[in-house]
Amino acid sequence: MNEVQPGQLYVVATPIGNLADLSPRAQSVLAGVTRICAEDTRTSGSLLAHFGIRTPLVALHDHNEDGLAEALVAALKKGESLALVSDAGTPLISDPGFALVRAARAAGVTVITVPGPCAVTAALSICGLPTDSFLFVGFLPSKSGARKDKLDSLKGEARTLVFYESSHRIADSVADVVEVLGAARLLFLGRELTKRFEESITAPADQVQRWLGADSNRERGEFVLI
Ligand code: SAM
Repeated sequence: MNEVQPGQLYVVATPIGNLADLSPRAQSVLAGVTRICAEDTRTSGSLLAHFGIRTPLVALHDHNEDGLAEALVAALKKGESLALVSDAGTPLISDPGFALVRAARAAGVTVITVPGPCAVTAALSICGLPTDSFLFVGFLPSKSGARKDKLDSLKGEARTLVFYESSHRIADSVADVVEVLGAARLLFLGRELTKRFEESITAPADQVQRWLGADSNRERGEFVLI
């Protein structure tokens, strides 16, 4: 079956670290569309080169997507087929693409999902905490005062909370979780998921803080906190 139809927008998930996670369907769609909208054309260019895919790329990121969305939708209406990818994982999940998808839907363009890796679902599926109902908060504020206020506003939330965090702030954010949500709060920390140095722990927050502090390498990489 030909995966790609003219005039359709394909939102394609790419690996969050392990290249083997690019699905056969994603490869076939990326090879079959006329152009691929990518958050960073160099990053996606390397991924595509690895799979021998030579589809032309167009840069679509936070700074140009509002302006570019209309032209891309016009191209779709003329019969182009486009894929949307981000640097890693699922587009629009703390990544660009919202303006394009919204504009495409508003213009009556069919938007097709090619699902796959996403750090939120990867982490939820291994955390051992309730997953029946969760709140994806995304990145916490970078300044400690605002971060503590945000955590405080979530104190009474019954749903499982999911956060993204970077290496620069992981230690401070975990310290704020201990302080605001309490040392006994069960906390999952997953780092470098699907990559060579993948590690994760679920324990009371103060234990996770000690675990993190026990090895300076543990502050490196990409993190999900639950
Ligand atoms: N769109 C991506 C997705 O589907 O997960 C998320 C993009 S967001 C800009 C990047 C953040 O996602 C990182 O700072 C980290 O919090 C999380 N993340 C991405 N890859 C990860 C990985 N391999 N392990 C742990 N967290 C990851």
